[in-house]
Amino acid sequence: MPAYLDSCERCGQYDVAPSAGIADGDGIVCGYRCPACRVVWTCSWMTVPGRITPPDTTTDRHVAALMHEQAAINRAHKHPARDTPAA
Ligand SMILES: [Zn+2]
Repeated sequence: MPAYLDSCERCGQYDVAPSAGIADGDGIVCGYRCPACRVVWTCSWMTVPGRITPPDTTTDRHVAALMHEQAAINRAHKHPARDTPAA
């Protein structure tokens, strides 16, 4: 089964494999570095059974930082603050 491959929006490089991925509820946040132009990005996927899961850590600290930041943003969106008074 394929991994969570993505394409680079900057240079068009396709089938870029994630450097790492971390579980995020029913999904997974993957971090990528383009092998061609070196740009870093993340992508949030729904977990697909049988698909190759990337390692949850990477020595690429830039990718790791971006990936964890995106996972935190996703969690914040799924669990909005409930103590905000109604307008
Ligand atoms: Zn690229």
